[in-house]
Amino acid sequence: MNTFLDEKLCHDYPDIFVDRRADMRTTAMCWGFECGDGWYKIIDGLCKKLTLIHKLTGIATVATQVKEKYGTLRFNHMSQTGDTALSDAEQKVAHDIIHEITDYADSQSSITCEACGEYGRTTGYMWLTTLCENHWREKNPDAPAEQYYWTHADYERAIEDAKESE
Ligand SMILES: [Zn+2]
Repeated sequence: MNTFLDEKLCHDYPDIFVDRRADMRTTAMCWGFECGDGWYKIIDGLCKKLTLIHKLTGIATVATQVKEKYGTLRFNHMSQTGDTALSDAEQKVAHDIIHEITDYADSQSSITCEACGEYGRTTGYMWLTTLCENHWREKNPDAPAEQYYWTHADYERAIEDAKESE
């Protein structure tokens, strides 16, 4: 992610990204946001929700690692209860909500181009990426155009075909 967006997230959500400059022996957040600029809005939207939950419940979330893995976003975090008026059962519900909105952000990334934020597809075989058609073509200039729409099964068929013609 570019420096401007990185700094904006840290500025807008200092409690969530408190470990952005912390020691690498204590957090993976020191590596920054290990994903493309296209997912900025997803991370920003998630942090808005986490900030409101913190305000309403006293449960603070700290990001421990934000990265792309297998073509989608991983927002790893720790959520801890500080001063809260919530019962234990209510705290459990709040933690469930935090997990659900984090999973939702991960699933949004699977249909959002990591480069530009437009609609995208998760494509590839061993190496998965989520890109819009334009950015996919840019990164795969030699691939046939229809390969953008290939499923996992299509890749397997192509590999089988290549083996047979050997
Ligand atoms: Zn794109």
